[in-house]
Amino acid sequence: MAKKTYLTKTPSETKKLGQKIAKTTFPGHPIALIGDLGAGKTTFVQGFGEYFGLKRITSPTYTFIKEYKVTSNLSENTVYRVNHIDLYRATSTEDALSLGIKELLYDPLAWTLVEWPELILDLLPKKSVIIKFTVKKNNQREITITQ
Ligand code: ADP
Ligand code: MG
Repeated sequence: MAKKTYLTKTPSETKKLGQKIAKTTFPGHPIALIGDLGAGKTTFVQGFGEYFGLKRITSPTYTFIKEYKVTSNLSENTVYRVNHIDLYRATSTEDALSLGIKELLYDPLAWTLVEWPELILDLLPKKSVIIKFTVKKNNQREITITQ
């Protein structure tokens, strides 16, 4: 298990880190994003999406799940997906499961990113990536990635 810590000074640096992680992670390996409200989770996902040419990703707080079809240079004729899940408003693990997120977490053709993953941490495949966001002084964010 490798652990790496980054310090970003601006939202655009956090987006850049998201792009870098998009480039270096694989479909089928879910990404759990842990951190307080405003810590930068959605900003990171926006950068992640930009790597795949997705513009203006917004938080699925009220819809829980957004799915985007993307292409990848991993395989030219395959339709991949980026799934953006936000469980901020989920009230129980059953509630989260009723949304069908288990299928998304185990989809071998999808990068699935989960904000507020606390309720489903036990359901994550072992190969998941865990990213923790902490607010530091002067708008800085400490971002620790374990994979
Ligand atoms: P979350 O999804 O964790 O609730 P958001 O990404 O929606 O957080 O919001 C982060 C907020 O913090 C945005 O308003 C963003 O502009 C601001 N911000 C300031 N500095 C940073 C930084 N270094 N990285 C990410 N966001 C930052
Ligand atoms: Mg968010």
